[in-house]
Amino acid sequence: MNYSIALVPGDGIGPEVCSKAVEALETAGDKYGHIFNFVELEAGGCAIDSTGEPLPAATLDAARQCDALLLGAVGGPKWETLHGDKRPERALLGLRAGLGVFANLRPASLLPQLKDACPLKDEVLIASNEQGKATFDLLIVRELTGGIYFGERGRDGDGKAPDGSAYDTERYNRAEIERVLRVGYDAARKRRKKLTLVDKANVLESSRFWREITQEMAVGYKDIETNYLYVDNCAMQLVRAPGQFDVVVTSNLFGDILSDEASVISGSIGMLASASIGEIPTGHKYPAGMYEPIHGSAPDIAGRDLANPLAAILSAAMMLRYSFGLLKEAAAIEAAVTKVLDSGLRTKDIASRVKTGANEKIVGTKEMAAAVIKALENE
Ligand code: NAD
Repeated sequence: MNYSIALVPGDGIGPEVCSKAVEALETAGDKYGHIFNFVELEAGGCAIDSTGEPLPAATLDAARQCDALLLGAVGGPKWETLHGDKRPERALLGLRAGLGVFANLRPASLLPQLKDACPLKDEVLIASNEQGKATFDLLIVRELTGGIYFGERGRDGDGKAPDGSAYDTERYNRAEIERVLRVGYDAARKRRKKLTLVDKANVLESSRFWREITQEMAVGYKDIETNYLYVDNCAMQLVRAPGQFDVVVTSNLFGDILSDEASVISGSIGMLASASIGEIPTGHKYPAGMYEPIHGSAPDIAGRDLANPLAAILSAAMMLRYSFGLLKEAAAIEAAVTKVLDSGLRTKDIASRVKTGANEKIVGTKEMAAAVIKALENE
């Protein structure tokens, strides 16, 4: 099969890690008989330099034509003094809105090889893991384009008077909730078949609405175990018993906070991938999808062969799984990453946080990626 992929390397380490994700996709393509056609596009600081805009209209137009988008990272000190809508990060919001991606998927798992990077004690991890192992593997599905971040907001009075006030509004309609829940249930079907709705239904009307709709939809997903948790409890459970979670579905605000908490317990930022997905656009075959490592452009290490390319490579694997349904190809990339970590290779960001094992070898971006490609060829 042929797939077209918009490639937005961006700034800083973005181009370094993106090129390694491309190599991984090409290797998987050669191995399994797929052709990935890349359309390289500018967004972020580099686009500001060449066009004056963080997200040129031509970039968004071209990205919309493609089957999926892979992004490195945008931003850096050079553009930090620019105003709001001229900053590189505006490109991210523009791409998300322009592509219509409404569900953000952030896996957070602890690879046994990187266990020492996790701030939680072994006994905490073991207690909630079904197989009694010191690990966890969860996926947070966050609603991305609605709720309080987009609701009506404002201020009454001048803010100085005692009755001056400010407000933000959490409002969701049925369609917005149903579509993100469908993404969550579909993801759960490809994983351990458990979905937890996280809300604040003991207080908020909007949360009660989420819960009612989830209860209705659960009837159609009898193969999935559905349960419900208040957000304050979930924040505690993530650090007390993370192994209990498979797929967590939640609103924009709660997801923003919980996904950061989940990323901390999984160790290095250089390992974490993400996907943002939407409906199938008219005239397209695959759902809108934007894939990116969760880290930024890391200007402190850019151009020095120090960046960990694994988050970008794992983002490419997510693209294969969630956009194209290429499950065995995605699993092959993930297995290659695991194999390389098993062999003891570490980029500096991972090595500095783990106890140095006898077989541990610190390598740069290129050597790490080359090892993954080799392992993938032999998968
Ligand atoms: P950052 O994620 O770029 O870096 C934080 C720290 O983690 C740095 O010490 C960096 O060296 C390290 N790090 C990040 N990715 C790494 C990798 N793959 N391998 C090894 N080490 C890695 O966050 P920041 O420093 O807050 O932001 C830098 C710039 O990136 C800013 O301009 C910010 O706005 C932008 N940013 C962009 C995105 C995005 O494009 N999605 C996300 C976050 C930040």
